[in-house]
Amino acid sequence: MKPLKALVANQKGEIFDLPDYAAVGMAADKLITLSPKATKNMPYGSELMYLPDRHPILFDLKANRYEVLSRNPDRPDEPIFPVAAFNSPGFVNTYVSAYREEPEADFLPLFSYGAVGWQAGKFRSAVVRVDRQRRQDLRLMPYDRIIDGINDMQKKLPKNRLRAHLENCALVYGCPAAKNFFLGRSEAPIPTSRRCNAQCRGCLSLQTNNNIPVSQQRIKFTPSPAEIADLALAHLDRVKQGIISFGQGCEGDPLLAYRVIHPAIQIIRSTTTRGTINMNTNGSKPDLVAKLLGAGLDSVRISLNSVRPDCYEAYFQPKDYRFRHVLKSIEYAINKGKYISVNYLNCPGFTDTPAEYDALKSFLTQLPINMIQWRNLNFDPQRYWNLMQTVTTPTNPIGMVTLLDRVRIAFPALKFGYFNPPKEKFHII
Ligand code: SF4
Repeated sequence: MKPLKALVANQKGEIFDLPDYAAVGMAADKLITLSPKATKNMPYGSELMYLPDRHPILFDLKANRYEVLSRNPDRPDEPIFPVAAFNSPGFVNTYVSAYREEPEADFLPLFSYGAVGWQAGKFRSAVVRVDRQRRQDLRLMPYDRIIDGINDMQKKLPKNRLRAHLENCALVYGCPAAKNFFLGRSEAPIPTSRRCNAQCRGCLSLQTNNNIPVSQQRIKFTPSPAEIADLALAHLDRVKQGIISFGQGCEGDPLLAYRVIHPAIQIIRSTTTRGTINMNTNGSKPDLVAKLLGAGLDSVRISLNSVRPDCYEAYFQPKDYRFRHVLKSIEYAINKGKYISVNYLNCPGFTDTPAEYDALKSFLTQLPINMIQWRNLNFDPQRYWNLMQTVTTPTNPIGMVTLLDRVRIAFPALKFGYFNPPKEKFHII
């Protein structure tokens, strides 16, 4: 089967294919040509990007070898750049775009950089699908209906600062979760926390590395329990199998806003049993997690880039906690019979190494969680591999597809996905 044609971009950002070259995927030092079988039509809503200060690695079909190109072979005066796909939610990158950095290259912005090629008039991404839900499908989010929803909520919650904050998220940042709140669909975001006790290298709302732009500003106020409860009830009252989620990209960690979240959950659960109350968190404070579960929190999703303490702490840079505290939070949720997911921030070339896979097997055996949400790590892949190599010896990747297959076989009761499930579907694998 003929490999996909290589894609490159020129300085104007115009993307075109090079017919004499095959597209290449990368996983740390491992290179592979992209085949039609190992790729899918680029998912709707995905975005193409070109990578500045970097040179594409392509496969020369005539010379039958990998090559790093800096100029268009058909137009030697034209510099060319690698192309990558920021794939839509629910699709896991199996390889990243293949490239070599220039010495003075800066960090790439906070996106994931999936490998992509060209075939029969279509872009094809190196991905595997883990969630079929269309929860964040932009085709189901017509602008005029969002505006109608905003007008309705302005009448319903006129003084609610959270409602106003989410308007900005929906209209300025284009946040699909905020749009879903105004559309009255599935899962609504409830940001509350201005602070965090971790310093993730790829934090979307606060960057200490000045060269990386943040994707959205952190919330600037702490909503009251009443503001939280009113907004949550406005959603749960009208949405079938509705979910409200603490812990969003535009805030710190919700556990640091415990003093407003705990009473808010009590208000919500004293008013209705409808819907699911979920928290996305770093899980750093197990005692608070236990109290929130006791107050009525239905499910918890804990973010991890690795299940190995050194690799976790190298990326999360925890300030006042350690990896063992995160494990304790997971243990508490399991012991309380609550639904617990891991938000597994994956990057081909690290997540699919034998060492990480072995660690994952013992983690899942020790802590039988309900679900893994496979999430592409939105961080410069080359800098991430470099960082991980400061705390662990790199091993040859087995491939993301192989990794998912092996985990699925070894842990048949473990749910794979991308989105937090409603409690009505907790039993569904
Ligand atoms: S836990 Fe969340 S808010 Fe805190 S640093 Fe990491 S990404 Fe940012």
